[in-house]
Amino acid sequence: MTKFIFITGGVVSGIGKGISGASIGRLLKDKGFSVFMQKFDPYLNVDPGTMSPYQHGEVFVTKDGAETDLDLGHYERFIDEELTQKSSITTGRIYSSVIKKERRGDYDGATVQVIPHITDEIKKAVYDVAKESEADIIITEIGGTIGDIESLPFIEAIRQVHAENVKEDVLFIHTTLVPTIPGSDELKTKPTQHSFKELMSLGIKTNIIITRSDGYLTDDIKDKISLFCDVPKQAIVQSENVNLIYEVPLTFKKQGLDEYILHKLDLKAKKDHDNQWEDMVKRFKCADKPLNIGLVGKYTELHDAYLSVANALLDAGYENGHIVEIQWIDSSKISEVNYKEKLSGLDGIIVPGGFGRRGLEGMVLASRYARETNTPFFGICLGMQMAVVDIARNVIGHTDAHTTECNPDTTNPVIDMIESKKNVEDLGSTLRLGNYECRLKDGTKIKEMYGVDEIVERHRHRYEVNNAYIEQLEENGVVISGINEERGLVEAIELKDHPHFVACQFHPEFTSRPTKIHPLFNGFIKKSIENKDNR
Ligand code: GLN
Repeated sequence: MTKFIFITGGVVSGIGKGISGASIGRLLKDKGFSVFMQKFDPYLNVDPGTMSPYQHGEVFVTKDGAETDLDLGHYERFIDEELTQKSSITTGRIYSSVIKKERRGDYDGATVQVIPHITDEIKKAVYDVAKESEADIIITEIGGTIGDIESLPFIEAIRQVHAENVKEDVLFIHTTLVPTIPGSDELKTKPTQHSFKELMSLGIKTNIIITRSDGYLTDDIKDKISLFCDVPKQAIVQSENVNLIYEVPLTFKKQGLDEYILHKLDLKAKKDHDNQWEDMVKRFKCADKPLNIGLVGKYTELHDAYLSVANALLDAGYENGHIVEIQWIDSSKISEVNYKEKLSGLDGIIVPGGFGRRGLEGMVLASRYARETNTPFFGICLGMQMAVVDIARNVIGHTDAHTTECNPDTTNPVIDMIESKKNVEDLGSTLRLGNYECRLKDGTKIKEMYGVDEIVERHRHRYEVNNAYIEQLEENGVVISGINEERGLVEAIELKDHPHFVACQFHPEFTSRPTKIHPLFNGFIKKSIENKDNR
C-alpha cells in the first residue's frame, strides 16, 4: 500500500516548497519508511537541460541521466536516495508522450483532451513511481503557485488521485507566505486565506498548511488560519528561518509535523527515531573557523547555478570544523593582467562545470595560478577541461591549445568531441549523461581519497580529453588518475608535483550528502585547510 503526499505552493514562489518536501521526506525516512520523491514542473520544456542557468539555476543530473530541476538535489541530499527520470516530470514531457501516443493511434480514434488524456498521463507518472520504487510513501511537489494557468492539469490530476484512493492514503500539504506590511510587524493571513480558497475551487482541500514568514507565527495567527482555512491548529506548521537549511526537518519535528502526518496517513512509525540527521546538524553548527574557497565560474552572480557544488563545499567545510566562505569569482573578469591579484589569498580554488565560450580564459588562468602557487585546486567537468588546456598551453607549450567547443579550428584540440557524437543535430542527444564507471589508478591522490579501485559517478558533458595528447600530458607531470575502460575515456587527472591539483570529468557534487560527504570534496577541503594553516 503506497501513500501519496502532494505539496502545492501558494501566494508566491520561492518560499522553500522544495526544502519543505525534502524535510518531510527526511522525517518520514527517520520513522522507518521508504520514501521516493518527485517534482512536477508546469513549463513546456521537456526537461530543464536546454534552459539557461540564468532561467533555472543548476541542472541536477540523476544516476540514470535525467536532466532535472535543482529541487531534486535537495531531495537527494535530504532523503539520501538516488532518484530517477521518473522523479522529474514537466508539462512538455507529458504532452510529448500523449502526442506520440495519439500519432501512433493508441487512443482508438478518440478526441484527445486535457481531461482525461493529459491528466491520465500525469496520474500514470505518480502511479508508475509507486509501482517501480516500491516506496511506502511518494512525495510529489507541484511546481509553480496555485492560480497559475499552466499548473491546472497537474492540480486536476492530483485531485483525481485523491478521489480514486481511500482518504488515509492521500495527503495534501499547502505552503504559503504570511507576509508583514512594510513598516509594521503585523503578520497578515489574508493571502493564505485566498490561496486556500483558490485551491478549494479546484477541488482540493488541504490537510496541512506550512507557512513562511518574517515573524514568529503566534497562537492568534494560527487560530485565524485554522478558522478561515478549515485545518486544525496542529496542522499549521511554521517553516522557520534557520541559519542552516538542514535544521528545517528539526523545526518541523519540534512542531509535531511528523507525528501528525503519520496520524493522517494512518501509519505507525516502523522504528525508533533515527538521530543521524540531528547529530549531523549539531556537528555542523559547531564549525567556527573560516575557510576561503574561490569558486571561479561564469554564472557567479547567480549562486543557484552552482547549488550542489556550493552545498557540497559548505557541508565538507562544516564536517571539518570550518565555515566555507565562497568567494564567487567571475571568470570572464579574470585576465593575464589581474589574475594574480584576483586569485590571491584563497585557501583553495574550485572551477566547476559550464557550457559555452564566455569566461573560459579566466578558468584557464585559475588553473595556472593554482599550479604556480601550489594552491589546492579542484576542477569539475569544464573545470578539468580548462586545466588540461592550461597545462597544454603553459607547460607543454601548445600556445593555441583549446577545446573545440570554443575554437573548432585550433591546431591543438586537447579537448574534443568524441567521433561518434559529431554530426548529431539534436543538442539534447549528444551529451554523456548519468552514471559511468571509472577505474582509479594505484598510487594516486584520487584513489587515496576514495579508498576503492572502481567508482561510478554522474556525468553531463559533450567534450572529452583528446586521447592523442595523453602521452604528452603524462610526460609533463600529469597523472591520468581515472579512466573509463570500456570507452577509453579520461575521467580524472591530477598533477604529480603539487600538494592537491585534482580534476574530474564527472560531477561529484550531485552525490555529496550532508550525512555522507563526497570523498573528493572532503579531500579538497582538508587540503585547503592545511594550506590555510601552513601559510
Ligand atoms: N561544456 C563542457 C562539455 O560539454 C563541459 C560541461 C560541464 O561542465 N558540465 O563537455
